[in-house]
Amino acid sequence: MQMNIALVKGDGIGPEIVTSAVAVLNAIGEKYGHTFVFTDVLAGGCAIDATGIPLPQETVDTCLASDSVLLGAVGGPKWDTLPGNIRPEKALLGLRSALGLYTNLRPARLYPALKDECPLRADIVEKGFDLLMVRELTGGIYFGDRGRREGKYGPEAYDTEAYSVMEIERIARAAFEAARKRRGKVTSIDKANVLETSRLWRETVHRLAAEYPDVEVQDMLVDNAAMQLVRNPSSFDVVVTTNMFGDILSDEASQISGSIGLLPSASLGEGKRGLYEPIHGSAPDIAGQNKANPLATILSAAMMLRYAFDLGEEADAIERAVDKALEDGCRTADIARGEGVRALSCTEMTAEVIKRL
Ligand code: NAD
Repeated sequence: MQMNIALVKGDGIGPEIVTSAVAVLNAIGEKYGHTFVFTDVLAGGCAIDATGIPLPQETVDTCLASDSVLLGAVGGPKWDTLPGNIRPEKALLGLRSALGLYTNLRPARLYPALKDECPLRADIVEKGFDLLMVRELTGGIYFGDRGRREGKYGPEAYDTEAYSVMEIERIARAAFEAARKRRGKVTSIDKANVLETSRLWRETVHRLAAEYPDVEVQDMLVDNAAMQLVRNPSSFDVVVTTNMFGDILSDEASQISGSIGLLPSASLGEGKRGLYEPIHGSAPDIAGQNKANPLATILSAAMMLRYAFDLGEEADAIERAVDKALEDGCRTADIARGEGVRALSCTEMTAEVIKRL
């Protein structure tokens, strides 16, 4: 099988971690007889430097023509003072929208080998957790009408949240389908005691639930969800929620996993292509020092194999190799604690994973 993958290495540690994931994909390709053809494209700060804009049309075209897209991270202090419409982050929103990616999947689990990294109480850690956050990605308040105006008390700003039945249905369907492949439970998170969009959300999720009698559905208010994630994370299987709630809760979920350097994500639309990226940013503080943890990006590549190419066995092999490397004590600086624990570099950790494939 030959697969064309667009590489958006981006800024900061982006090039280092994407190079690691490419090395792992090449090793998997060799082992299982697949050919991955990679094409580098520019987005984010490096694209601003080279072309004056964060997302050149050529990048969009190449991504659209590819079978899948692997992204490192974009942004950094160098571009922080630019006006909003030419900031590196614009590239992310632009790519998601050009590729029609409305579903964001973020698995978060506790690696037994890293339980000392978890900030939760020992009895909660003992139970472990393994959840999948399904976040709506192209609607809601991040895309609604916004502006400044003269209000009752002088100048004010506003942002609006709108969700259509269609948008709720398609994200809820993604959650129900995912739950069928996991432990069969969906927790739908909203703020239905206050927000009209949440009431429509809840209504729509319940209507759709009738099509999935094998999946258990639970509603939860977002404030309660924020508490339950730290009190009882093992109670969650699949969590589905809006763009903004998902943005916040998935970062909370990442923190209880131990390190942001471990968590992958997949953004999906109607087709299989998708965009795969670690959930962390460009980590400018450690960029160019070969210190970054490459595991989140390597695990994102595994998600790509599973979702874009239906290569479940190959994805499992990568995930097992990462588990094994952690069990064997391999640690990058972000997760290296205790006396005598040597922090591996980004390239050393990558080699340890490849060794265990
Ligand atoms: P960040 O995730 O880049 O870094 C937060 C902390 O985590 C830093 O101390 C960093 O060193 C550490 N860290 C992150 N990834 C790591 C890894 N793989 N290995 C080891 N340590 C890691 O968040 P930030 O500092 O708030 O943002 C930095 C830049 O990244 C900003 O310009 C921001 O806009 C951008 N950003 C981009 C994305 C994206 O491209 N998807 C996401 C978030 C932030």
